[in-house]
Amino acid sequence: MTANLLDFDLEGLAAFCERLGEKRFRATQLFRWIHQKGASNFDDMSDLAKSLRQKLKATAVVIALPVVSQHISSDGTIKWLFDVGGGNAIESVFIPEDDRGTLCISSQAGCAVACRFCSTGHQGFSRNLTVGEIISQLWFAEHFLRKEASQSERVISNVVMMGMGEPLQNYSALLPALRVMLDDHAYGLSRRRVTVSTSGVVPMMDRLGKDCPVALAVSLHAGNNELRNELVPLNQKYPLAEVLGACKRYLDVAPRDFVTFEYCMLNGVNDSVEQAKEVVKLVYSYGGTGSWCKFNLIPFNPFPASGLTRSSPSAIEAFSRVLSDSGIVTTIRKTRGDDIDAACGQLAGDVLDRTNVRRRLSQRGSITIVPQFSSIDVGKESLFNDC
Ligand code: SAH
Ligand code: SF4
Repeated sequence: MTANLLDFDLEGLAAFCERLGEKRFRATQLFRWIHQKGASNFDDMSDLAKSLRQKLKATAVVIALPVVSQHISSDGTIKWLFDVGGGNAIESVFIPEDDRGTLCISSQAGCAVACRFCSTGHQGFSRNLTVGEIISQLWFAEHFLRKEASQSERVISNVVMMGMGEPLQNYSALLPALRVMLDDHAYGLSRRRVTVSTSGVVPMMDRLGKDCPVALAVSLHAGNNELRNELVPLNQKYPLAEVLGACKRYLDVAPRDFVTFEYCMLNGVNDSVEQAKEVVKLVYSYGGTGSWCKFNLIPFNPFPASGLTRSSPSAIEAFSRVLSDSGIVTTIRKTRGDDIDAACGQLAGDVLDRTNVRRRLSQRGSITIVPQFSSIDVGKESLFNDC
C-alpha cells in the first residue's frame, strides 16, 4: 500500500526507511525536504540517492488535503476549507499579527462533545482526522504563505488546536502531529507556541502532560457544574473538580506557569457579575490565588441554530473587571475573520448543510487567490493573547 509521508513523525519515517532497507538517518533528510522545504516530488530531493528516490516513488506519496475554497477577511485572516472525503470538510484559519502568524487547526470532522454554543458541536461527529490530515493543514498553509510572500523563512510561528473537533478525543493522531510541529527538522515550533485547547478530557490532559507538554487551554465557560453540564455536556463525565485538578497537575510540566481558561461570553447565560465572582472563587479554591491561570473571554460568535446571543460589551467589560481585580490576568479575545465566518465556533457552519458542501466540493478549482500576501492588513491586537 502506498504511504502518505505526511502521516509520519520522524520516528515513524525512520521506521519506514528501515522497511525500505535504508538507514534510519535518511528519514531526517526526507523529513526536512517535506516539512522545511515543502517538497512533494521525490525527484526534487536532490541530495537523496537515486535508488532511494526510485524506492520512494514506488511506495510513497506526499499529498496534502485538497483545498475546496479560500476566503480572505478584510482583517487579513485567511480561512481554508479542505475536503476530507465522504461529503465532509474541515477548516483551518491563519491569523496574521504584527509579531506572529497563528494557524488554527482542526482535529476532527465534526465533534462529539456537542457544546451548546458551538457550530461544530451542532454538526455532530463524523470522524477523527489522521496525522497526515492534521499536518496537511500546517504543511499547506506554511508553504502556500511562504510562496505568496516570496520568502523562505517561517510564516507560521504559532499553532492552536482550536479549529473543529476535540483534539484530546483524537489523541493517537494528535500526539505524532504535535511531534512533527515541534521537531527541529520539521517546523521547529517551541512548546510554548503550540496550544492544545480542550473541553476537559481529564485522562488525556494527564497523558498529554506526560507525552508532550505543550501549552494548554481549557474551555471553562461556567463556574458551577449545573451550568457547565448544560453548556459542555462532557462536564457530566468530567466535572469541574476533576478538570481543575488535571489543570493543576499539568502545571508541573507546562511550558509556562499558567493554564489558559477560555470562557465564551453568552448573553444572560454565564455573563453576570455574580457568575464572575463564582469563577474567581472556583479558581482560588484550587490555587489559593488567581496567578496560576489566565482567562481569555471570547465574545460568542452567533450562528443561526444556536438560539444564543453575544454578551454586551459592557457585560464583558464588567465580567473581565471582576476577574482582573481578583488578580487573574484576563483578556478579551478580539474577534478576527468574522466576515468570512472564521471566528471561533463558526467553523464549517456550512457543513450543517451537507448539500452545500457537496456543491462546493464539486466546484473545486473556484478558489480565491490571495492577491498579494504582503498587502494584507495586519491587526494590532493579539487574537490568541496567551497562546
Ligand atoms: N474542542 C476544543 C477546541 C476547539 S473549540 C475546545 O472546546 O476547547 C475552540 C474554542 O472556541 C473553545 O474555547 C470553544 O469554547 C470556543 N467556541 C466554540 N464555539 C464558539 C462560539 N460560537 N463563539 C465563541 N467561541 C466558541
Ligand atoms: Fe467540540 Fe470544542 Fe465545539 Fe465543544 S467547543 S463542540 S468540544 S469543538
